[in-house]
Amino acid sequence: MKNKYVFTGILLAVITAISAAVIHFVTITEEPHEEREGTLEVVTSFYPMYIAAENVIGDIPGVQLTNMTGPQTGCLHDYQLSPEDMQTLSGADVFIINGGGIESFLDTVLKNYPGLPVITASDGISMLEMKTFGAGHEEDGHEGHDHGDENPHVWMDVSKYMQEVDNIAGGLASLDPVHAEQYRQNAEAYRKKLEPLRVEASKITGKTGQANIIIFHDSFAYFADACGLQVAEVIEIEEDNTLSAGQLAHLMQVIKEKEVQLLFVEKQYSTKVAEAVAKESGAKVYILDSLVTGDGDPDSYIRGMEENLAVLREAL
Ligand SMILES: [Zn+2]
Repeated sequence: MKNKYVFTGILLAVITAISAAVIHFVTITEEPHEEREGTLEVVTSFYPMYIAAENVIGDIPGVQLTNMTGPQTGCLHDYQLSPEDMQTLSGADVFIINGGGIESFLDTVLKNYPGLPVITASDGISMLEMKTFGAGHEEDGHEGHDHGDENPHVWMDVSKYMQEVDNIAGGLASLDPVHAEQYRQNAEAYRKKLEPLRVEASKITGKTGQANIIIFHDSFAYFADACGLQVAEVIEIEEDNTLSAGQLAHLMQVIKEKEVQLLFVEKQYSTKVAEAVAKESGAKVYILDSLVTGDGDPDSYIRGMEENLAVLREAL
């Protein structure tokens, strides 16, 4: 009889211990982030910012990185904030954006979270002017998206992307001074990996000389600039739209006048319009990547830019 009581007693003690552990676990996981000692919740606006931050943060302990938009969202053209996005931002200690107006929803975010620190990666980086199709030809209209007067797609120029990496590192270092040196070291290591891409881009047109190109996404203006190419025209049209007869005629004139042989099309968009232009003019279509989607791998920017340079090498 006595042994039975002892056994029951032990069993009860074990059950109590397990319950306590489970309750403790539940309590920990439900604890809001503010109470978790030493955790910095970093949220990025979209993919290129996520990859840059991922490299800057590296394996620094206690830093949690979340990309607000999914890895397949792409460029934030006319992006609408979702309730999930607002939820993600509610737990953020800092929000990393590209800036230049590409995060058109920023005002809404700041209205809802006025105290949220924002790191603008493009701070201090000179931007190209946004070219619109058929500039000076008002009647041509412009069906594309409009980020503002400046072209915000600076990450497509490796040297400007490196500046963004530095800005992110500087911003995180001042918010999390304990790890300041590590942010700077990680940024420096990432810049070293990016340097060969920057060098290759700057030399790639060396032998062939400048070429005039037509691009189908404003982001390629930076790629062209870094590679020494001249953008003769920018065409941004929504998925199902086609060029009007007037637009096509204008384009044919530009292609003829500026001897355009290369059309650069965005990987994520339809190539239909470009194919039609190519057929009409004899220019060739090449597909580039704006590096706004991917698998989340820290090296995905590097791999994507390498592919872009390979496409350009072939085109030239
Ligand atoms: Zn864009």
